[in-house]
Amino acid sequence: MVRIRTRQVEKWEVLLVHDEGIWNGVERTAFISRETLAMQCPTLERESSLYLNEHSALCARLSAGSLIEMCDAVAERRIRNGFAVIRPPGHHAEPKQSMGFCLYNNVAVASRWLQNKYKDGPNKVQKILILDWDVHHGNGTQLAFDEDPSVLYMSLHRHDGGDFYPGGPFGSMHSVGRGAGAGYSVNVPWPSKGMGDGDYLHAFQRIIMPIAYEYAPDMVIISAGFDAAAGDPLGECFVSPAGYAHMTQMLNALADGRLIVALEGGYEVNAIAHSAVAVAKVLLGGVPSELPAGTACGPIAANTCRQVAQVQSKYWRSIPREHEAADASMDEDLPKVELRELVRHWRTHHLWNSYGYSDVPLPEVGIPRPSLVRLPASQTQVMCNKDLFEKSWEAVILFAHDMGNLRVGQQDIQTEKTVGATSYLIDSTFALYDRAREKNYAVVDVNFFGSFPIGLTEQKGLQPQATANAATTLSALATQTNEELLYTWDNLIDVCDTENIILVGYGQACHAITNLVEHRSVRGRTKAVVQIMGMSTLPLAPRDDVDTKRWYYRNSKVICPQHHPFFAWGGQKRACKRLGRVERSSELALMASFS
Ligand SMILES: [Zn+2]
Repeated sequence: MVRIRTRQVEKWEVLLVHDEGIWNGVERTAFISRETLAMQCPTLERESSLYLNEHSALCARLSAGSLIEMCDAVAERRIRNGFAVIRPPGHHAEPKQSMGFCLYNNVAVASRWLQNKYKDGPNKVQKILILDWDVHHGNGTQLAFDEDPSVLYMSLHRHDGGDFYPGGPFGSMHSVGRGAGAGYSVNVPWPSKGMGDGDYLHAFQRIIMPIAYEYAPDMVIISAGFDAAAGDPLGECFVSPAGYAHMTQMLNALADGRLIVALEGGYEVNAIAHSAVAVAKVLLGGVPSELPAGTACGPIAANTCRQVAQVQSKYWRSIPREHEAADASMDEDLPKVELRELVRHWRTHHLWNSYGYSDVPLPEVGIPRPSLVRLPASQTQVMCNKDLFEKSWEAVILFAHDMGNLRVGQQDIQTEKTVGATSYLIDSTFALYDRAREKNYAVVDVNFFGSFPIGLTEQKGLQPQATANAATTLSALATQTNEELLYTWDNLIDVCDTENIILVGYGQACHAITNLVEHRSVRGRTKAVVQIMGMSTLPLAPRDDVDTKRWYYRNSKVICPQHHPFFAWGGQKRACKRLGRVERSSELALMASFS
């Protein structure tokens, strides 16, 4: 191991990336008294997250200059790779604006410098990969190369739907670079906190490394913030030192081993130290320590990666396109039938033939519709035994559910199977109808189809994260489904001559069941409430009325997926208390619980 000498960056070098105004502005701070700086600081802190004293300019020059020295040594192959332990960090500093603790963009300046000096020859550095694993998006770096295909910028960061620093749509998965640089910015934007080794490794294997190999950079620079490390108070993620080591190992395989690690953010000094040592060991030829068995990607990260792959498949052959995404605006002029319309007709037919259920017309329930929001006509379908009121039943089940998952198959070139032949709908509702028939139970089936556009991507913590308009649509849809279930209760269940009622909610429809329990006196004849949750938001137990709450705890059973994020962050005991009597189950068990 050798130490590379530090030096100060020169003005012309900074100007490779930044405006002259940035250089002048930073330089000037050295000549301003500490008192005057302190007076200006609150504004800078508030507006740009910048914290300065009279030494800041020198530190910024040393930080950028030293990284250049190290890059030079690696490019020339005097050393194989290097770790630049530098501060202040740089990746938030934009060409025309310093911000976010960053004055000069060290990595961007060093990249331009390398491209300038090593234009050709055996050591040429034309294509550079910048991998930014700081928990924040490196807006400055991406902006510096946004239209430039000679620098591939890839970042994994918390985005939280645009609410996490630096915020906004820049850094979303759709922010892919512009003009000639389109496709040369690759963002993996986590929608929430809590990401760990399994999530990062999955993103590396699915997105980062395939694209990196296809790009084949001459040099790799890691913007290595350690604020996604376990224990960091700002990042709230769980990457371990071993996790960082494995990512380094993968990147080390590129560019003939010419790899430079440049320190960026990180706010827990022990976490930084342990992570940095693990990374340095790999640079020195060590093997990363083993990750524990069971290290795996969680559902939220898997979903993010799937969506990023969909976006990037347009630019990279190494990222296979899963299937043609439906885009109604493109198929505007073509005749089309909505899939749920097909499913609806098929269900009507099948439930009539196999179970003797008939369609019950559901009137437009009177809900005031917000004028700004265009709600589609309700698709909800109610079916029940055709002799619901004539026969005497052991019990009546009110079963509210959304539609099953659609599995869209791949077109298989070898067997010439088309997508249609390999796609299917999972409809696990039949198990309940079979069981009901066996036991002489009647069923009132309320199928909300896909009325719930709440997906994991829209989740921030557990709150649906949406723009004001989308939020209005969501709440209008929720009101509509609630009203439809109340109508069904009033007109089919409440007037039924039975002493035993069972309420079953499935997926997002659980919310409507909870609403029903709160708004109708269901307690007398209802013997049980079964709520089978999906991976989206979970309805809490009724809270307002003490008797209802007590009754709900005694008579309900809530079945949740084992890996729902609610439990990861809520602490199981406390979390369960707010939901009711919870049983956590694997997805398979969830299917089985129907029978
Ligand atoms: Zn950071």
